[in-house]
Amino acid sequence: MNAQDNCIFCRIVAGQIPSRKLYEDDDMVAFHDIHPKAPVHFLIIPKSHVESLNECGEGEGGVLARMLLKAPQLAREAGCGNGFRTVINTGPDGGQEVYHLHMHVLGGPRVEWKAPLP
Ligand code: 5GP
Ligand code: ZN
Repeated sequence: MNAQDNCIFCRIVAGQIPSRKLYEDDDMVAFHDIHPKAPVHFLIIPKSHVESLNECGEGEGGVLARMLLKAPQLAREAGCGNGFRTVINTGPDGGQEVYHLHMHVLGGPRVEWKAPLP
């Protein structure tokens, strides 16, 4: 058994845990957050397990760029044509709870600038 077997997001990638997916391709998946902090709240994750931004190197540069570039398209399709926020929590002091890199995309008319970050 390896670390990924215990990783909730690896299990979502593998289809072992159900999720409401918005998008999937060869190297990323986007799905709605189970506890949304905004009217629209989804996560974009790399399929390949990496714990956090702290563990990323040049090898993750491509997928990180593709995740970031996919965010506006998915946000628009989810009804956030008027704007959205992207958040990557990193490490204990960054408030990270799930240690498989993920980018939050939050949007909707009720998202306030000073709302606490998830
Ligand atoms: P973090 O605090 O690590 O930046 O964010 C983890 C996010 O993952 C939280 O917003 C939490 O609601 C979400 N999450 C945790 N477990 C699950 C799950 O099983 N399914 C989905 N869709 N989201 C999850
Ligand atoms: Zn994982």
